[in-house]
Formats: sequence, C-alpha cells, structure tokens
Amino acid sequence: MNDFVVIGGGIAGLSAGARLSAHGTVTVLEAEDALGYHASGRSAALYEPNYGKPAVVALSVASGEYHRSANGGYLTPRGLLLVAGASQEAAFAQDVEELGLVPISVEQARSIVPIVNPDTVSFAAHHEAALDIDTDRMLQDFARLIRANGGAVLTGARASGIHRGDSGWQVATAGGTHTAHNLVNAAGAWADEIAALAGIATIGITPYRRSMARLPAPGGHDVTGWPMLMGVAESWYAKPDAGKLLVSPADEDATHPHGAFADDMVLAEGLARYEEMVTEPVTRVETNWAGLRSFAPDRALVLGPDPLQPDFIWCAGQGGYGFQTAPAASQLLADLVTGKSSELDADIVAELTPGRLRK
Ligand SMILES: Cc1cc2nc3c(=O)[nH]c(=O)nc-3n(C[C@H](O)[C@H](O)[C@H](O)COP(=O)(O)OP(=O)(O)OC[C@H]3O[C@@H](n4cnc5c(N)ncnc54)[C@H](O)[C@@H]3O)c2cc1C
Repeated sequence: MNDFVVIGGGIAGLSAGARLSAHGTVTVLEAEDALGYHASGRSAALYEPNYGKPAVVALSVASGEYHRSANGGYLTPRGLLLVAGASQEAAFAQDVEELGLVPISVEQARSIVPIVNPDTVSFAAHHEAALDIDTDRMLQDFARLIRANGGAVLTGARASGIHRGDSGWQVATAGGTHTAHNLVNAAGAWADEIAALAGIATIGITPYRRSMARLPAPGGHDVTGWPMLMGVAESWYAKPDAGKLLVSPADEDATHPHGAFADDMVLAEGLARYEEMVTEPVTRVETNWAGLRSFAPDRALVLGPDPLQPDFIWCAGQGGYGFQTAPAASQLLADLVTGKSSELDADIVAELTPGRLRK
C-alpha cells in the first residue's frame, strides 16, 4: 500500500507528490497520456510575486528562493510593462500600487516596447520583478524527484472510482486499483469531482477559462527581450514566446471541467483591446488555445487535510498562480500532512487550509 496516492499530474500534483515522496511512498495518477496536459501546459509561465491576494502573494514570495536556485534555477528576466489610456487613470494607479510598479513616461515605455501607441497610451509603469518560469522543466524535475524517491508517476491512469475501506483508500483506474493511506486531490478543474467521487463534501472549486493567441512578431520586431505588456485591470496581456507574441484577452468565464478551447468572439474582443494600445495591427493569429484557472470561492489555494476526513488532502484552487506558488504551496502541504510547523505565518496558513471553507 502507498502512503500517498496523488490524483492529478499537473504542477499541483507533481510538486505535492515530490515533497511527500521524502516522507513515504507516492503514486501520482494522471488521466491524460502526458503530464501537464491541462492548465499546467497552457500557462503564461510568469512569476509575478505581487499578483493575487495576500495569502497567494505570501506563497509566491516564499517560493522565490526555490525558483531562483533549485536545480540551477527556473527564472529568467522578463519584466512587466503596464499601459493605460487617458480615461483609465484610477485603475492604473490601483495596479501600480498593487503590483509595486514604477510609473514611467510613455516615451520611456516606447523605448522598452516600441509598438506602444503614443496616441492611445497616456500612462505607463514598469518593473523587473516579473520573471519567466521554465515550467516544462519544473514539471519534469518534480516528476523525476518522485521517481528518484521510489515513487511512481503514471499517465493514462484516470481515477474512475474512489472507495475508502477500513485500511485506507482504493482508487480504481483502467490499469488496476491503487491503494493508499492518504489521498491527495490535485485534480485542478476536476478537484470537486474527485471529492464527490470520494464521498467528501465539495468546496466550490470553479474553473474559469482563459484564452491565448499566438501572433507573429508584430511589425517584424525582435520581441525576445520585451517585458510582458499588460492592459490595466488585467484587461489583456501580451508576452513574448519563442520569437512570437502571445496575447491573452485575460478572459475569466466560469465553466465546467473540460479540455478547454478558446472562444473566437472573446479572443477577437481581447485582441481589439490589445490592438488599441499598440501601433502594429494584428494581421494573423497563428494558433490559439485556452486553459482553465480553477479558484476556490475566496481565490486562495486550498492546501492540506480535509477537516472532516484528514486522510483526504486538498491541493486545489491554484487559480492563475499554480507555478509561481508551487514550491511553497507543496512545502506547506507536506508540513501540514507531517505535522511540521510551517515557515509561513499562522494567519496565512489559516487562509490556505480547507477548514476556512467549512464554516
Ligand atoms: C492561460 C493561462 C495562463 C496562466 N498563467 C500563469 C502564470 O503566468 N503563472 C502561474 O503561476 N500560473 C499561471 N496559470 C495558472 C496555472 O497554469 C495553474 O494554476 C496550474 O497549472 C494548475 O495546476 P494543477 O496541477 O492544479 O491543474 P492541471 O494542470 O489542470 O492538472 C490537473 C490534472 O488532473 C488530472 N485529472 C483530473 N481528473 C482526474 C482523474 N479522475 N484521474 C486522474 N487525473 C485526473 C487532469 O487530467 C489534469 O492533468 C495560468 C493558467 C492559464 C490557463
């Protein structure tokens, strides 16, 4: 019997599995044929430590050292450039405050990203704190660590039935049944479905679609060194990716757990918001996709044992921060499971544990 069966082979399940593999035997079950097939394979791969509510920021900040130094480090410079129109001054000021950006002139903004449109952009702010994360390598490194510690990472292994017998959990897959003392629910958008399957009360994890379009480099510019360009109040963003530009409408439409795809109209409207702030028109969309960002009702992660069934462990609600929070979130989960005190403040831990949602 395993000590831990983890359901979900995205960043949540692999990072949690890796941390737990130092304390017992771990089997990760991933339904798809590849790891990171859903949200974790579709992210913008940014580390922006000031993004999200305070408990999320605390996790991101606490993850910084791991991101910077583990396995040679996962971060490379990117930066963030916020742009706003004349009518958006209040929203601009709020973003500057929340993200800790430094206001700069439109001319300075144009020296960083030459396609910033001086006719429509009235305010700009920038910082270097936002960094790119090598998300693929991070997924593979966590999977490797699980295997190195004697665990298993199985793909094509959908948990189709979950039963808790006298001796622990039994998780049925097409390839056989996996048993464990503890079940870790890291199923992303499917987290509530897994809880229901296990007979545990759900907590209201809701998936929200976020779309992405890949454009050729605008105007033939070398975009490699550009920062992420963002509209105020997260109304769109654009990020260089392998010589191309990814543009997201930053959509947030509630949906059900599924293999997400972009909505053409949402994409077109988002591209129009981006286009208004730049000098180069969108001439072609090379490809597009969408992923699901899954949030708890209060938009903080849900980490640790279920208060009513402590051998059912939540690792859910990673929202738009699953990679940037993963090192500290997985450490907190392991600390909670093994009874070790966390390096995070107690009030932050209380905002992340499932008990807060069970009142
Ligand atoms: C467009 C977009 C941009 C983003 N940008 C960023 C960013 O810049 N920085 C950042 O940190 N985060 C970002 N995120 C968020 C980040 O991608 C997610 O928070 C993270 O990937 C969630 O990881 P996860 O492991 O919880 O979910 P997933 O990656 O979805 O993994 C859950 C897995 O569970 C599996 N599963 C479900 N049911 C079962 C079952 N019954 N049996 C077995 N397996 C099952 C699924 O197949 C899936 O692979 C972004 C997300 C999107 C969509």
